[in-house]
Amino acid sequence: MARNYFIAGNWKMHKTRSESAALAKELTAALKDGRHKYLVAPSFTALETVGAIVKGSNILLGAQNCAAEEQGAHTGEVSVLQLKDLGVQTVILGHSERRHTYKEDDALVNRKVRLALKHGLDVILCVGELLEEREAGNAESVCERQTVEGLKGVSAADFSRVTIAYEPVWAIGTGKTATPEDADAIHAYIRKVIGGLYGADAAKGVVIQYGGSVKPDNAAALMAKENIDGALVGGASLTADAFVPIAKF
Ligand code: PEP
Repeated sequence: MARNYFIAGNWKMHKTRSESAALAKELTAALKDGRHKYLVAPSFTALETVGAIVKGSNILLGAQNCAAEEQGAHTGEVSVLQLKDLGVQTVILGHSERRHTYKEDDALVNRKVRLALKHGLDVILCVGELLEEREAGNAESVCERQTVEGLKGVSAADFSRVTIAYEPVWAIGTGKTATPEDADAIHAYIRKVIGGLYGADAAKGVVIQYGGSVKPDNAAALMAKENIDGALVGGASLTADAFVPIAKF
């Protein structure tokens, strides 16, 4: 089954609204003839501004996180309903910074995944091992656990709106990239895990992005691998000069 490449930019906690607007305008112009699927995920504070700019373009609007509850006494959290209200189409969940800095465990990530899907948002579910887990030979088992637990209770129909992002934690923001071969091996393994959960067609169809220091000069080699279907880009998504060549690899 042919899978479309999906290139997403995670702007993390960067940029004011005017800086976000400027980048969004550059990207909509530069990518209008792009052949792949695109998404930008600005900070919550810039979602409305960026949403107005990318509306009607080939760039989807993503959020970087959401709460595990719909509403209520959750000071500082942002609900899926509020994201939808701003035109958000996709939410990134289980990012390693959420898992490791903010101590989100698999059960919490799973609640968020199910809630986002229930309300019609698409999900990018991030999985990936720490350096010590890789060195102990546990990269596959960690990714398997995060995938299986993250998708608990997700129906096959809802799974069709899930993208997986394999992001080895040791490669995020460090300048260290997994070799295309190492990344592809984990992608193939995750695909097998998906096959076990949802069957062979779902395994063939699921889009698995790679994330971890993707740059203009390494994107094409990563994307050339059979099981790598796109990229979730952090640092290099913050300027059009870096993101556009990745998006148009
Ligand atoms: C990320 O945050 O998802 C990421 C992959 O970051 P970077 O590209 O900066 O490594």
